Amino acid sequence: MEHIQQNFDVNYSYRVYFTTDLFTSPNNCLSAFLASRADQHFRKKLLVILDGGVSAKHPHLSGQISDYLGRIEGFQLAREIITVTGGEGIKNDLPLLFELVDAIDKYGIDRHSYVIGIGGGSLLDLVGFAAAISHRGVKHIRIPTTVLSQNDSGVGVKNGVNYKGKKNFLGAFAPPAAVFNDTSFLATLDSRDWRSGMVEAVKVALIRDASFFNWIEEKAISLTDGDMPAMQELIYRCAELHMQHIGQGGDPFESGSSRPLDFGHWSAHKLEQLTNFTLRHGEAVSIGIALDSVYSFLLGWLSETDMKRIVTVLKNMQLPIWHSLLERAESEHSPVAAGLEEFREHLGGRLTVSLLRAIGKGEEIHDIDYDLLYEAADICKKLQ
Ligand code: NAD
Repeated sequence: MEHIQQNFDVNYSYRVYFTTDLFTSPNNCLSAFLASRADQHFRKKLLVILDGGVSAKHPHLSGQISDYLGRIEGFQLAREIITVTGGEGIKNDLPLLFELVDAIDKYGIDRHSYVIGIGGGSLLDLVGFAAAISHRGVKHIRIPTTVLSQNDSGVGVKNGVNYKGKKNFLGAFAPPAAVFNDTSFLATLDSRDWRSGMVEAVKVALIRDASFFNWIEEKAISLTDGDMPAMQELIYRCAELHMQHIGQGGDPFESGSSRPLDFGHWSAHKLEQLTNFTLRHGEAVSIGIALDSVYSFLLGWLSETDMKRIVTVLKNMQLPIWHSLLERAESEHSPVAAGLEEFREHLGGRLTVSLLRAIGKGEEIHDIDYDLLYEAADICKKLQ
């Protein structure tokens, strides 16, 4: 049949920098990055969107940002730094998404300019999406300020917001221009965000890297108690594993149904929604990891010893491993189990759930046995 064939590749490349005190003048990490992208013929613009939870704990930050970015030749900083409340709530706030799009318009952020998001994973998901849909995609720089965003959400290619209560229903694959992980932000995290952010490292270690899991197991208590050098190592190794998977896994924009990095996430996303987002993402994933690890044990894939090691790590991080929403409501499916179909729709195509063949080795299945799932939930309840 007569047709015209079109094929092209688009090459993406970006760096994740690890630094401290990013906005102090001796630190030229960000300024050198921008300077190398200046154009002598016109000034590029910068728009900063800042997480209110960060600015509350770093009251001089806005001033430091203005001084630092205001000095970079070839760039013009927008008149205001936009501060928005942090946390999952902003991903449920569509009017806010359009306020950010309006700011991109108002400050003339074109496709040569940069939107800079500074904050936790929620803010970065929102800002990245606002950038991705404006002018069909303006460049964005991410400055993650939580453990979870530095080790996972901020270093990848996904952006998005929730819609009608469904996690990340509206979103775009849009890699950042660069990511700057600044350790100094981590010092002001509250204990809940510090601890729950580690769970994505537990996840990626379990599906990819047994020696990293052994290391996490050994350090779990000191990490939980605030060991910053250990946390820096955890973040680096976790970010590296996530980036390897995205870059070398062959499916960065997830066109297939396979989603190994979503280990523990099918129930987590539903739990977040059902608890009206009162559970932190990391807490919900902790429950999801426990559930799917016990399920892997019940399938005969994972030894009881290894299953208990995983549960102990999560408990040593003072994270939850069970929720009452996992329980079957009389003859009905539990509210969480009812979310399996939603997860399949989110993946598109076939239901694909990652489980553990062993610590460090994920494997996918396409059917869930509900009786086994409820048995797994009961075991989690007993072990919690
Ligand atoms: P978060 O962004 O919701 O932030 C939690 C709280 O910490 C907020 O109140 C925020 O204001 C505050 N905060 C942020 N930085 C702080 C700091 N340095 N000091 C003090 N307070 C600070 O939490 P999160 O765990 O970073 O992100 C969770 C989100 O990330 C979820 O929406 C999840 O779905 C998303 N996520 C996205 C991806 C992805 O690939 N895009 C991957 C994993 C998770």
